[in-house]
Amino acid sequence: MAAVIVVHGGAWAIPEELSKASVDGVKAAAREGFSVLKRGGNALDAVESAVRAMEDNNMFNAGHGAALNSEGEVELDAIIMDGRTLASGAVSSVKNIANPVSLARAVMEKTDHVMLTSRGANMFAESIGVVTVPTDALVTEYERNEWEKHKNYITGVMEDFNTKWAHDTVGAVAVDCTGNVACATSTGGIRNKMVGRVGDSPVIGAGGYADNFSGAVSCTGHGESILKVTLARHILSYMEQGKTAAEASELALQHMGVRVRGAGGAIVVSPSGQWAATFTTERMAWAAVEDSVLWYGLDPNEKLQEQLSQ
Ligand code: ASP
Repeated sequence: MAAVIVVHGGAWAIPEELSKASVDGVKAAAREGFSVLKRGGNALDAVESAVRAMEDNNMFNAGHGAALNSEGEVELDAIIMDGRTLASGAVSSVKNIANPVSLARAVMEKTDHVMLTSRGANMFAESIGVVTVPTDALVTEYERNEWEKHKNYITGVMEDFNTKWAHDTVGAVAVDCTGNVACATSTGGIRNKMVGRVGDSPVIGAGGYADNFSGAVSCTGHGESILKVTLARHILSYMEQGKTAAEASELALQHMGVRVRGAGGAIVVSPSGQWAATFTTERMAWAAVEDSVLWYGLDPNEKLQEQLSQ
């Protein structure tokens, strides 16, 4: 069967001046993840490498370029999940780690736990030899300036979410040629969040979920809303009831809008290779590769394509 990867670079109103870099970033990450699948790599390796590419790209709110909390510090959250076994690993509120998605994978593979947080996650990173970076190494000048401008705004105001966010959370979902699915999500969270605030991204069933019996999902958007409706699992429940990936994500996102007034987006892939990228925010940068065609978009209903060279 054909392998597929879908990635997102976050929802919200990505401003015009950043839109090209954002779309270029998701396209590059989708190509990166797909090259892993093409070489015979599994879905888990593909989502990790696609998310790492976006964590390393200053454009996105994950790893380098992460949003700053109310004290002006970086606190990162990430999850990865293997649809074959339901194994998952997550980290929350970690500092000084350039690629939290890989630390999440280490939690999954090297510990008996599903999530490690804060100091404990950093201690674990040290114990397995993950290289840490200096505190300010992940902070971009752009983010520092935005933080200065907006530090007096109260987080949680919905209008802020649709108008003031410039770059965002990243995620990937994939199905490999054996039908295994996986997901990964990584974020710096919401700018100005309280110290210690953990959003949906590292929480299993909310920011991501993967199960070979239904599919894989990675979410973005207002974390507190996504947590309340367990968005990733909610989408997969609809798929278990026979909805397509696109119908399931639309229904679950609509439910989140009506029930808790939350906006967001999701990427989905099914074990048979059906996929969707859906959002209720103004924009969401996304890209997908299927059968050597690279699909991508940013605005609602936008679906552009490029042929990848074989
Ligand atoms: N969901 C992330 C959070 O609330 C932010 C985002 O996806 O924009 O931490």
